[in-house]
Amino acid sequence: MAIEPEPGLDHWQIKARDIALTVQRLGQHPAVQLDTLGKSYQGRPIQALQLGVGERRVLMWTQMHGDEPTATAAVLDLLAHLLAPEQAARWAGLQNKITLRVIPMLNPDGAEIFQRQNAQGIDINRDARALQTPEGRLLMAEAKRFRPHVGFNLHDQDRRYAVDGNGKPATISVLAPAYDPAKSVNDSRRAAMQLIAHLKQTMPAPMQQYVGRYDDTYSARAFGDNLAALGISTILIESGGYPNDPNRQVARALNAQMLLEALDAIAHQTYRDVNPESYWAIPENREQSVFDLLLTQLTVKGHPSYQIDMGIQQALYSDGDARIADVGDLSPYAGYQSLQLDGAEYDAGRPFALTDSLVLDDVAYARLLREGYSHFVGDAGLLSNNSQWPVLTLPQPLADNQLPRRRMPAWFLVRKNSRVLGAVLNGQWVALQETSS
Ligand SMILES: [Zn+2]
Repeated sequence: MAIEPEPGLDHWQIKARDIALTVQRLGQHPAVQLDTLGKSYQGRPIQALQLGVGERRVLMWTQMHGDEPTATAAVLDLLAHLLAPEQAARWAGLQNKITLRVIPMLNPDGAEIFQRQNAQGIDINRDARALQTPEGRLLMAEAKRFRPHVGFNLHDQDRRYAVDGNGKPATISVLAPAYDPAKSVNDSRRAAMQLIAHLKQTMPAPMQQYVGRYDDTYSARAFGDNLAALGISTILIESGGYPNDPNRQVARALNAQMLLEALDAIAHQTYRDVNPESYWAIPENREQSVFDLLLTQLTVKGHPSYQIDMGIQQALYSDGDARIADVGDLSPYAGYQSLQLDGAEYDAGRPFALTDSLVLDDVAYARLLREGYSHFVGDAGLLSNNSQWPVLTLPQPLADNQLPRRRMPAWFLVRKNSRVLGAVLNGQWVALQETSS
């Protein structure tokens, strides 16, 4: 049975108040113990939910980075699923074998303002040794008191990570962190590797292509590495992007499924037979390898003319400007959206001078684009944009003799045989050829 998502947690920012009711409801279940571990720097409670009475102890913590909420939703989905009446038989089989402890939001102050660091501006995941953050101290104290056999360190990663070799976005990345600079493998790290390999092997086959493995360079200040050094089989799971999934609901569902599978595997110790080499067989992930929009074989008219691929990136976490991220031979990279342009030409486009009030709907805007206008110049107050696409209004026209390059705003036209084939408007591709003007 699929794990149902808890309602109200399908947005991209999750704050303490968004989960409060769910945590309280789960905490009232007779099988659950709800503990307040302490307070964040700004005084928000940091809570843990515990269930089961078994000997194998499992600790999960999420949103150590305030702007990484995907697994927060996933662990609550998991707990609600485990406690659902339909799952009573499954839970009966687990509760005497495992004790599960979940900290659903370690950094509520960061979550409040959607920032990575805590209210002190400190990255909690670089505070495992210094322990100058209350949140870091709470996590370390929990790890030492509860002494989990397995710890799940749950994060989000940049959506531009790709899986090496197949160009798919890394919707899930995994790591069994090293506990020393030599990256040694002892039994507890080997167990983490085996469990990760087991979790990948039990995912739906098509989704296994979206799993990448992090580089295991030792990170002396990070929690994963330090908890691994305490003998905890530590597993990092990073949620990432998936096509047409800005709020990471695919990664959320995969997290919940993987964590449920992990509980079964830990309870029954099934993963200890897995060949640890299958951990190393998971392809590594690669940074900055998926563009939001990838245009290939675009001709730039110049002296002389030349052909490029162009990668375009939306602003990462906000509504900021889309920019050209790279140009050149981008064949190693992929795009959430890719367009083969087959030699069509880049055209920065002309400015449309605003002298009178202008109301734009889709038809009127498309007509201007087909006529070669890519942006507006003059008093932005004269323009009412009722179309579905963004507009760019500038005090001065864009320089028309510039070659497209990194960091430039992603606003231009694409021509084929002198007709405008489409436009890139703040990084969004608008096809213009299907309907004639
Ligand atoms: Zn993180």
